[in-house]
Amino acid sequence: MKKQEMIYEGKGKKIFSTENERLIIAEFKDDLTAFNAEKKGSQSGKGAINCQISSLIFKLLQSHGIPTHYEETLDATHILCQKVEIIPIEVVVRNVATGSLSKRLGIQEGTILPFSLVEFYYKDDSLGDPIINDEHCKILNITQKQEELEFLKSQARKVNEILKDFFIQKNLKLIDFKLEFGKTKDGNIVLADEISPDSCRFWDKDTNQKLDKDVFRQDLGDLKVAYEEVLNRLTKGL
Ligand code: UDP
Repeated sequence: MKKQEMIYEGKGKKIFSTENERLIIAEFKDDLTAFNAEKKGSQSGKGAINCQISSLIFKLLQSHGIPTHYEETLDATHILCQKVEIIPIEVVVRNVATGSLSKRLGIQEGTILPFSLVEFYYKDDSLGDPIINDEHCKILNITQKQEELEFLKSQARKVNEILKDFFIQKNLKLIDFKLEFGKTKDGNIVLADEISPDSCRFWDKDTNQKLDKDVFRQDLGDLKVAYEEVLNRLTKGL
């Protein structure tokens, strides 16, 4: 399958059409952005690492019965996916307080939450991706169907359980992560976008060393070294 026209360019990926109207190719870029693109950077090789990590995680989730847009990995930086219409909600799941949750509610970083928290953010850069609830989703006409919102939450919780168990075996604590879902032509809701250290937070199980995009956000060291460490741990023994 070959890339045709670029139909979308985001912060971390380019999306290309293919000869099959139901399939797209996603190319993982080396670019990095944080704080609603106020901070920008690039790290050679980052796209390839995220492509491998995302591929591995999508395969794992599919093997546990979670429908995703992922079809196959084409090469170091490209994956073939079903074409979907992205639902403009960032579904964030949190196990441990940090980032915007700590800032907004004053919960000390590192506090283990009494249960996994699922939040919705409205995917709109011009508004700074504000946090929203189910009623906002309906007012914004993202969906009128409560069952679709419940489905997003229940899928996010299932993904969390699968990934938490998987990562802890790799000596990584899954702190929080962001998911995006899309609707296929047939109207099915599937997990889409990417799942990588750009969209998740991982801390070393023993030292709490940050091995994710916070290395870039907070200038904590060499991002590629951190991402490679995650990839090495995930692929060890495979
Ligand atoms: N996240 C993301 N894209 C965004 C915002 C958040 O992938 O546009 C991820 C982020 O990497 C983290 C989780 O969602 O794993 C929660 O992020 P938070 O709300 O704490 O935001 P931040 O501290 O990045 O502003």
